[in-house]
Amino acid sequence: MTQPDSPALPRRVIPLYAAETKVYPRSVTGRFANWRWLMVALTQLFFYGMPWLQWNGRQALLFDLEAGRFYVLGLLLYPQDFIYLAALLVLSALALFFFTAVAGRLWCGYSCPQTVYTEMFLWIERHTEGDRQARMRLDREPWSWPKMGRKCAKHGGWLALSLLTGFSFVAYFIPVRELAGQVMSLSLQAWPLFWVLFYAGATYGNAGFLREQMCKYICPYARFQSALIDADSLIISYDARRGEPRGARSRKQELAPQTSGAADCVDCTLCVQVCPTGIDIRNGLQNECIGCAACIDVCDQVMDKVGAPRGLIRYATENGITGQWSRKQMLARVLRPRVLLYGAALMALSLAFVFSVYQRDALLINVIKDRQVMARQVGEGEIENIYRLQLINRTERPLQLRLRADGLPGLQLLTQGAESISVAPSSIGTLPVQLRLPPNAGLASGAHPVQIEAQELGGGAKTFTAKAVFFVPR
Ligand code: SF4
Ligand code: SF4
Repeated sequence: MTQPDSPALPRRVIPLYAAETKVYPRSVTGRFANWRWLMVALTQLFFYGMPWLQWNGRQALLFDLEAGRFYVLGLLLYPQDFIYLAALLVLSALALFFFTAVAGRLWCGYSCPQTVYTEMFLWIERHTEGDRQARMRLDREPWSWPKMGRKCAKHGGWLALSLLTGFSFVAYFIPVRELAGQVMSLSLQAWPLFWVLFYAGATYGNAGFLREQMCKYICPYARFQSALIDADSLIISYDARRGEPRGARSRKQELAPQTSGAADCVDCTLCVQVCPTGIDIRNGLQNECIGCAACIDVCDQVMDKVGAPRGLIRYATENGITGQWSRKQMLARVLRPRVLLYGAALMALSLAFVFSVYQRDALLINVIKDRQVMARQVGEGEIENIYRLQLINRTERPLQLRLRADGLPGLQLLTQGAESISVAPSSIGTLPVQLRLPPNAGLASGAHPVQIEAQELGGGAKTFTAKAVFFVPR
């Protein structure tokens, strides 16, 4: 309640929103930068190259959504095989748990598309606008023709790469040669055009502008990765015992680094300047750290220059840094129960996955019972049930099949006409069939389990089986 005679308090507005500061990562070379570029090369060779790879006269990797066929090298999958996709997702999650427990955000630092595309976009940026200082200067400068030229060159490069990425992405869903033909003849249809532009726009926005904000604010992995690591996970660590108190070195200390007693961090801030997320690793492990190891590379170079041992910033465990353990001692703790558990689960599931894909039947039979007629009496008192069979040919060769039923004495399977039926390659055939039981079968009323068998004729002569239920009326 307002007190009329109380003195008016000055109003102070505390802003809850802070504008994002643009990060200008400095270029870096070194061991880990080489690993990152190797991963960029491998992942992009796969991504851009895979649609062009042919297998059995068709695209090796194609997710034909319209036809409901997914081709993965020699494997043909249908929407009914969704279980394999689910298994792959579970395997990927387990692999992420495993690698995070061993060595933190390896995925983020080296293979995540966000990191890989940001790396490529930064490469274009450096070659058009220059390194960190030049880019900062350019952004401060007023607009001029040279500035406009550099900006246009950068955005032109980004757009070209984004469009190539959008095209390659859509080529996993529409045969690449057909898509390329449409692009060349400027006759790309509306939906493919939309998806190429959509994916290109997402690449342009994410790798060109959002960059580290995607890792800091949007990606859920950054939030829960701290639950996956423990004090024995290898993470990018700053060795504060060696580095502090930080500060520039005198010329005398530089000439006799081992005896000067000065701490190793010369506070050059290069580790902050190369950081793609703009953090200072000397403040300890932070959610924003994507584990790219750029700070290790640059700090090692600084250590070389000042004559101190490398590794002031290094891959180390929290226990290792606290206890000043040797690398061998730290690695000995990597195989701890959590890692063994994730590793065993990953191995077991991978083997089960490979085995089930290898053992997968060439034919899948779905038995659909006629809902109009549960069971009826026909002819001289035979009991008849009606079904529709869906025969899914999971191969790229025709299947010639002979059908029969089993499970009850005297049970007969009737098709309308042909002795055997043929299912075309990579296709689904449907066939109405009747199962008939002789009048003197003497079965109790109710549901009885039966099997429908399809024997492949010729070649492997394999038999495929599906379960069904036969109803006997009262
Ligand atoms: S790069 Fe190394 S020496 Fe330079 S500030 Fe970072 S930790 Fe200190
Ligand atoms: S702190 Fe180091 S490892 Fe982490 S994101 Fe920055 S540069 Fe990469």
